[in-house]
Amino acid sequence: MENTISQTLKGGEWLIKESTTQQTYIPEEFNEEQRMVNDMCIQFLNAEVLPQIDKIDKMEAGLMPSLMEKAGEQGLLGVAIPEDLGGLGKDFITSTLVNEGLGGGFSFSVAVAAHTGIGTLPILYFGTEAQKKKYIPKLASGEWKGSYGLTEPNSGSDALSAKTTAKLSEDGKYYILNGQKCWITNGGFADVYTVFAKIDGDKFSAFIVERGMEGFTQGPEEHKMGIKGSSTVQLYFQDCKVPVENLLGEAGKGHIIAFNILNIGRLKLCAAALGGAKMSMDICIQYAKTREQFKTAIANFGAIKYKLAQMAIRIWVSESALYRTAKWIEDKETELRANGSPFNEALLGAAEEYAIECAMLKVDGSEVLDYVVDEGVQIHGGNGYSDEYMISRAYRDSRINRIYEGTNEINRLLIVDMMLKRAMKGKLDLMGPAMAVSKELMSIPDFGNEDETAFAVEKKAIANMKKAILMTAGAAVQKLMMSLQDEQEILMNIADMAILTFNAESALLRVMKLVAEKGETEYLLQADIMRCYLNDALDAVNKFGKDAINAFAEGDEQRMMLLGLKRFTKAAPFNSKNARRRIADKMIAENKYCF
Ligand SMILES: Cc1cc2nc3c(=O)[nH]c(=O)nc-3n(C[C@H](O)[C@H](O)[C@H](O)COP(=O)(O)OP(=O)(O)OC[C@H]3O[C@@H](n4cnc5c(N)ncnc54)[C@H](O)[C@@H]3O)c2cc1C
Repeated sequence: MENTISQTLKGGEWLIKESTTQQTYIPEEFNEEQRMVNDMCIQFLNAEVLPQIDKIDKMEAGLMPSLMEKAGEQGLLGVAIPEDLGGLGKDFITSTLVNEGLGGGFSFSVAVAAHTGIGTLPILYFGTEAQKKKYIPKLASGEWKGSYGLTEPNSGSDALSAKTTAKLSEDGKYYILNGQKCWITNGGFADVYTVFAKIDGDKFSAFIVERGMEGFTQGPEEHKMGIKGSSTVQLYFQDCKVPVENLLGEAGKGHIIAFNILNIGRLKLCAAALGGAKMSMDICIQYAKTREQFKTAIANFGAIKYKLAQMAIRIWVSESALYRTAKWIEDKETELRANGSPFNEALLGAAEEYAIECAMLKVDGSEVLDYVVDEGVQIHGGNGYSDEYMISRAYRDSRINRIYEGTNEINRLLIVDMMLKRAMKGKLDLMGPAMAVSKELMSIPDFGNEDETAFAVEKKAIANMKKAILMTAGAAVQKLMMSLQDEQEILMNIADMAILTFNAESALLRVMKLVAEKGETEYLLQADIMRCYLNDALDAVNKFGKDAINAFAEGDEQRMMLLGLKRFTKAAPFNSKNARRRIADKMIAENKYCF
């Protein structure tokens, strides 16, 4: 298949425009090298990490750093880093595939993701030439480990309210840091830390702090619910002397570093979560085939098939949205570089363009993984509750993903906030399409579908889901204006409608592209997956829309919108039970997640 997409949509534009398969990149388009890199990651986990997973979780001294060094030797820590700084200089899809490939590595996956993401990218994107030369090659090789200190005991989601201070020394040679950071991943063994502090108590800024700097100490390891092998400590700064040349980026502009790095981190978290979810699925399929009750394998029970199929549906759909977005970011980066943007500004600018989608992926990826491991424990019955089974570890380790890289509540709020801000800046025309939908509501409904092409019903369903969002969000903005920001329940409803719709559309476009290339018969199960998701998404959009509308509308307006919502979320009859059985049967036959 051709590895290019045309006329990339801008961030958020999928909501107001019809997307085409040409604008959609799908995982089946990974090239040979990308597949190899992904396989290499999985082999690394199987050979080096999983056999030692108990020792890792017991925090055997030196084990995690040495595994990271091994990963570094194989190039896995420097995939996204330019060659002149010691990396492999690969594209964004490839580096996303590394996060996915290593995603099944439990605590190891967390350590590597923190190192290659928040531990390395601030210096790579915001460092001076001298800072990059000093730190990046050693971070790329794994000789040095990276860490990131933003959170404090009293500032988590409200990160900018940090209390750690920085003051220029009298001789002008150092910033003197005082304060405390908490929950710092890799903090127990890292060599290099990006730390945020306020210069003179108000200019929020970032600093590169090295282990061993005077006045810098780390607390003991936290005792956590999961990811027990991942180092998490507090950092203490007591008159810590940081050389002025270690100020990262501009003084007072630390928020730009903190927030821009998060966009990429959110997409990568989705990739890692899906890697973990696929691995958990394989474990569950194999368990369900071998565990017998009532003289038959539990995989033969419809209740278990439902679970296996639903796990696969959620993974496949989320993956469709992930790589659709990753390719948009990659193409935008290429465009910006072609227009003269330097390396760092290009990728950050590209990720910023798709910040809405990155937030949606973070929420969905983390919730897909939670769903998969939760049902995975259920498939394992009592054994799922035993530490001896991998699924139990997967369940404990999954939970953190909804908390860090911005909690899922914060990300849901951001999704709508960013959409409305883009609309206000004139970057995303939400008002025009929203007005068109309210006009349509007043007119006689058109129940027909003139489009007789393949997937016409599904295309219309997606278009209608978008109308449901535009109608609900448009009316909420008009009615509540500035007070909408205080109505978080409504914002959450709209965010969920957006995630469901973006996901369903990504899955539909993937199926349409596959069918156009190879014909329908090859992809019947993928079409089943897409239809199962779409069917449920229509109901869910209806529910979230109803909750929102009932919260702000009254009288005739309320009745009219509820009727419109019902029309926009009408599903064609579909036997999802049979579809789920077909999906589960295929995986049972293949002995693994195989889509
Ligand atoms: C294992 C682990 C590893 C971590 N690694 C790092 C790291 O390497 N570096 C680092 O800097 N940080 C790290 N963190 C910190 C993490 O990013 C924060 O825990 C997270 O941002 C949430 O902050 P908080 O814990 O203070 O929760 P709070 O901000 O107190 O949130 C508590 C609850 O309130 C909700 N909430 C907060 N504000 C709002 C709002 N405005 N509207 C609606 N709901 C709201 C949240 O969604 C959440 O449900 C890590 C945390 C953990 C547990």
